[in-house]
Amino acid sequence: FHTLRVILGDQLNSTHSWFKQQDQGVLYLIAELHPEATYVTHHIQKLCAFFLAMERFASALKENGHDVCYLTLDDTQNQSLEEVILSLTKQHNIDRIELQRPDEYRVLQQYHQLITSDSKPTFNMVDSEHFLLPFNEIPNFFQAKSTVRMEHFYRKMRQRFNILMADEREPEGGQWNYDVANRNKLKAKDLDDIPAPLCFQHDVAHLLERIQRHEIPFLGKAESNLLWPVSSQDALSLLTFFCEHLLPNFGRFQDAMTSQTPHSWSLYHSRLSFALNAKLISPKHVIKAAISAYRENDNIDIAQIEGFVRQILGWREYVRGMYWINMPDYQQQNALNAERALPSFFWNGQTKMKCLANAIGQSLDYAYAHHIQRLMVTGNFCLLTEIRPQQVDEWYLGIYVDALEWVELPNTRGMSQFADGGWIASKPYAASGSYMQKMSDYCGNCHYKVKEKTSAESCPLNSLYWRFMVKHRDRLAKNHRIGMIYGNWDKQDDAQKHAVLERAQWCLDNLESL
Ligand code: FAD
Repeated sequence: FHTLRVILGDQLNSTHSWFKQQDQGVLYLIAELHPEATYVTHHIQKLCAFFLAMERFASALKENGHDVCYLTLDDTQNQSLEEVILSLTKQHNIDRIELQRPDEYRVLQQYHQLITSDSKPTFNMVDSEHFLLPFNEIPNFFQAKSTVRMEHFYRKMRQRFNILMADEREPEGGQWNYDVANRNKLKAKDLDDIPAPLCFQHDVAHLLERIQRHEIPFLGKAESNLLWPVSSQDALSLLTFFCEHLLPNFGRFQDAMTSQTPHSWSLYHSRLSFALNAKLISPKHVIKAAISAYRENDNIDIAQIEGFVRQILGWREYVRGMYWINMPDYQQQNALNAERALPSFFWNGQTKMKCLANAIGQSLDYAYAHHIQRLMVTGNFCLLTEIRPQQVDEWYLGIYVDALEWVELPNTRGMSQFADGGWIASKPYAASGSYMQKMSDYCGNCHYKVKEKTSAESCPLNSLYWRFMVKHRDRLAKNHRIGMIYGNWDKQDDAQKHAVLERAQWCLDNLESL
């Protein structure tokens, strides 16, 4: 072999131009790496999903006539990515190494070290051919350490790629954004209509054995039948299922939460994030298929399709831009000086707060929670209780099957924790129990009383919310989207204010027992 091409676990893009032809002398490397499996404690289903998808990808390449070297944890032992690449280069007398641009800063650093080392081979880094916005155009849309609004970026992307447009300038349907139509609560009568999710049944017994034998620490519930998609065929089936059964109600119930059905964990969400992030499927293809379904079916209206397109063409591309323009500074941000430790119930779901017990419990069971659970349940709790952003990041980065730093970090540190001081969010996503009651049915059978603010049984979110707002008044009162909230606080008498703040302090002092 003269050339080694490295394929990372999140670069499983079968449509990449590398694979257009079988090249004599080119060896593809796919490797299970101990450092990748341990840089944070991952959910066991996440480890299995990546390893199985990598195995399947290697087999498919071999079937298509490519030369592939697949190394398991047994082969690579404790070696780093650089060590594995260099030893293979030596073994096969390789003089050229080709890489796809990694999505994570950590890996880019590793590649830079490799490229600048004294090794003989020449290096070439190519695009991963996945995102809509070319990497080198990120600086045209984003500015470091500055506020860039998603909505502004999203409109530009709609125009640029001519997606859901009436003409060159105007959006189809006359409105750019149907967010206000995306806030319905699920009522009892809606629950029976929620479709059972499409779950795969991939045997991962051999991976569970291997991961345990190598003493890789993990969290969450191990399943010998993995439900996540691990090939582009799986991803396409999941997409077809989504377009047919879930898209007609996607936008409508996008922010809803329930614990009252067996399908509460998945609702109308696509669960395509792992397949997208591993590049088993391209965002362009997902958007195109969803828009075709919208054009062909009367039961999908503009609010549903726009809500879905906004997540992928808007939010997903936007957080990638914000990540790259702000790294490595992003991972140092802690604008609100949050310093408390994450309570241990994040690792076992054992809390009396029903909203948290549900969101954490299903994350441990499935390595998945939908957006509003991540943002407004676990995220909101960490924001109000001032958990150290690095610990919050580590939890999110480990527990979700789709968690890769480029998308996890801006969402967690930026959007949910406001630790960037507002580069992403125009205001902190802080909420009291009344939000939970409005958007979910969690409060009905909760130990705490959502209507109460100061009693020992009062919902902790109520007092914590006011404490947070009062503490950050100087920063937040100027914000026209929040300013008026302080009128409600000022109207209360001093005794009531004191009781609220006292209850909040008790909650903060007793986080572990909530
Ligand atoms: P759907 O609800 O079906 O949405 C469709 C697709 O849109 C998703 O698959 C995803 O690719 C994209 N999308 C939606 N919202 C966002 C967003 N805010 N940012 C980027 N893409 C988005 N997403 C990840 O992929 N990995 C993460 O590690 C991750 N961490 C998050 C942490 C926090 C604190 C929050 C608030 C959000 C996080 N998200 C993350 C975004 C979002 O919650 C998930 O993409 C989504 O829940 C995945 O489920 P789904 O595929 O069913 O999404």
